[in-house]
Amino acid sequence: MKVIKLREGKERSLLRRHPWVFEGSIAKGKADFGETVRVESAGGDFLCWAAYSPSSSIKLRAWSFDEAERIDAAFFERRIAAALAYRARLAIDSNGQRLIHGEADGLPGLIVDRYADTLVAQFLAAGTEAWKGAIADALLAATGLTRLFERSDSGVRQLEGLTPVKGWVRGEGATEVELHESSWKLKLDVAEGHKTGYYLDQRDNRREFARWVRQLGAQRVLNCYSYTGGFSVAALAGGATDVTSVDSSGPALARATEHVTLNGFNPAHHQALDADVNATLRGFIKEGRQFDAIVLDPPKFAPSAAHAERASRAYKDINRLGLRLLAPGGLLCTYSCSGGVGPELFHKIIAGAGMDAGIDAYIVDRVGAAPDHPQTLVFPEGEYLKGLLVMRR
Ligand code: SAH
Repeated sequence: MKVIKLREGKERSLLRRHPWVFEGSIAKGKADFGETVRVESAGGDFLCWAAYSPSSSIKLRAWSFDEAERIDAAFFERRIAAALAYRARLAIDSNGQRLIHGEADGLPGLIVDRYADTLVAQFLAAGTEAWKGAIADALLAATGLTRLFERSDSGVRQLEGLTPVKGWVRGEGATEVELHESSWKLKLDVAEGHKTGYYLDQRDNRREFARWVRQLGAQRVLNCYSYTGGFSVAALAGGATDVTSVDSSGPALARATEHVTLNGFNPAHHQALDADVNATLRGFIKEGRQFDAIVLDPPKFAPSAAHAERASRAYKDINRLGLRLLAPGGLLCTYSCSGGVGPELFHKIIAGAGMDAGIDAYIVDRVGAAPDHPQTLVFPEGEYLKGLLVMRR
């Protein structure tokens, strides 16, 4: 077993159970791609077992802080069992669930979503790539399923020196699946959809949106960055009769249109707009249109804190326009999935947008990702999705 020794004082974050070690913290030691190593402090104390990433600036990702633990197939079985036990306690009202959420589930560099009878995984770091076979077997055994599709076509793999991979790891067949969320049906293709196919992290926020639409009697609803129309279906379920989905992806909008009829709603109550959101919002303001409820769920504008300033301007822009389109008493549900923009900064951005728009609003809720995308106390980096629900005064 190879030993990696840290520089003096660099053991502190591992002692707090934070799982990453950056290049600059290492005094000596090297290992092969994904190899399990023993990590020691400058004084020679055991710190953790970790996976070595030769190409990444995150050189080590901790598997375990328990010296007696062995990193083998049984280790992955235990971690997966613990992750599933947590989900079972959440009583999630959907057959679409995030089963493994990386660091928060003690499996850095692994994302696994379940869509009905199909598992979809992203192997995003050297360690999980090296253990792919054992992880795949453990996942199927723990869930009793037979199909695992890999969507390791995310850009972050490049940092690990890995090329994109997409295809079946176990099982085969059609990649289209039907998801049941709340009382709605949503179709997706695990080979073609964004990320692993769908945005499960917004599940609870879509359900809450339906509730708000009903409570407010909102009729005119604008769903910006709609993807396949999850929030639009929620709006129709809440009783809205004039719902507009805006997205720049044609295939996503085709799905949104399909979802309206699949769920038995009147197609005349829904319009799909293949357009840029910013331009659409400006156009609607010129036309004097107003909405009773608006969703702004843009893609990640700030992948890291370094992009926070530019991203802040982009968030402020769309939120200023969105607020201007709200009818009095109307609700804006605005989200950011940028890890680089924290909840406090996001709040500030929306406040600035309101100031510029000359509009004040009540904050009626502050929300995050659904709890099957857990945040843990030791890993604050895990927080990414945040949302504010504001009601125009
Ligand atoms: N709210 C969705 C997820 C949104 S993901 C859900 O609940 O499922 C972000 C979406 O923004 C993607 O579908 C992407 O195609 C779209 N998008 C990105 N840039 C855009 C732009 N400038 N104008 C319109 N849509 C955009």
